[in-house]
Amino acid sequence: VLKTLAPELGLLLAEEMARHEIEVHAGVEIDALEQAGEGFRAHGDGFEAEADMVLVATGARPTVELAREAGCELGEAGAIGVNTRMETNLPDVFAAGDCVETWHNLLRKNCYLPLGTTAHKQGRVAGENAVGGDAEFAGSLGTQAVKVFGLVAARTGLKDDEARKEGLDPLTVHFECDDHKAYYPGATRMHVRLTGERSTGRLLGAQIVGAADAEVSKRVDVFAAAIHHGMRVAELSDLDLSYTPPLSSPWDPVQMAAQAWLRTARSL
Ligand SMILES: Cc1cc2nc3c(=O)[nH]c(=O)nc-3n(C[C@H](O)[C@H](O)[C@H](O)COP(=O)(O)OP(=O)(O)OC[C@H]3O[C@@H](n4cnc5c(N)ncnc54)[C@H](O)[C@@H]3O)c2cc1C
Repeated sequence: VLKTLAPELGLLLAEEMARHEIEVHAGVEIDALEQAGEGFRAHGDGFEAEADMVLVATGARPTVELAREAGCELGEAGAIGVNTRMETNLPDVFAAGDCVETWHNLLRKNCYLPLGTTAHKQGRVAGENAVGGDAEFAGSLGTQAVKVFGLVAARTGLKDDEARKEGLDPLTVHFECDDHKAYYPGATRMHVRLTGERSTGRLLGAQIVGAADAEVSKRVDVFAAAIHHGMRVAELSDLDLSYTPPLSSPWDPVQMAAQAWLRTARSL
């Protein structure tokens, strides 16, 4: 479930879905879908299920026919190639949003990251430059959040496997703590997976799963701001983050996870 997260965190979401009476069948390829009475029957791989409604979610692909026919160059990911000014290779033609390739700040290359946050920033840059301005898109980290029943999952930057694929040498540490002081009612468990570069201590990525009211997304945003500014994991403890017992601890989970990462890194 949610392959954009580490499997350990995806499992937490699968368990949450099971708690809400959803049967999860992962890794099953559906090869036929047929009408069955008022609903549908799906088959595949020894699997069969009936449903009132079928929602097919197979990922996002850019729509580029118009641009291609007009002579726009496409990038490796198949989306329209643009520079940081959101200019295509055609004079006076700008492009932004789900149809373009997006500069990834950590990968230092273009990739396909169709997100509303990115589309808004790119659209503003394209619009400003189209009327003679001088704006640049500052790049993305793929920061995103999603709510699944009572949980929120959020991530920014790179996961361990993604960093490794790019030739980096990551260390990932899974840290679990209460979202706020346990003596104050309502504390819930928060899972933070922090990825940093072994050799430099540079922060590369973070993923969090926690209760929907546990400020998961804003905590991932702290990591996103830190990565954007090239911070090292060790520097997270220096940040002056807010604290009050119903919401956090004197060391916020962001900082406790950073300290756990450092302990692991030093013990290796
Ligand atoms: C279900 C869902 C949930 C999402 N949730 C999030 C989220 O939580 N956070 C997040 O950051 N992102 C989210 N996204 C992604 C986000 O919606 C997109 O990245 C964003 O909308 C892209 O903006 P855009 O302007 O490039 O394209 P769009 O918003 O798709 O706008 C393109 C517009 O062009 C119009 N159009 C298409 N063809 C033509 C034509 N030939 N002539 C005229 N008009 C045309 C379309 O009707 C549409 O209005 C979600 C996407 C989906 C599908």
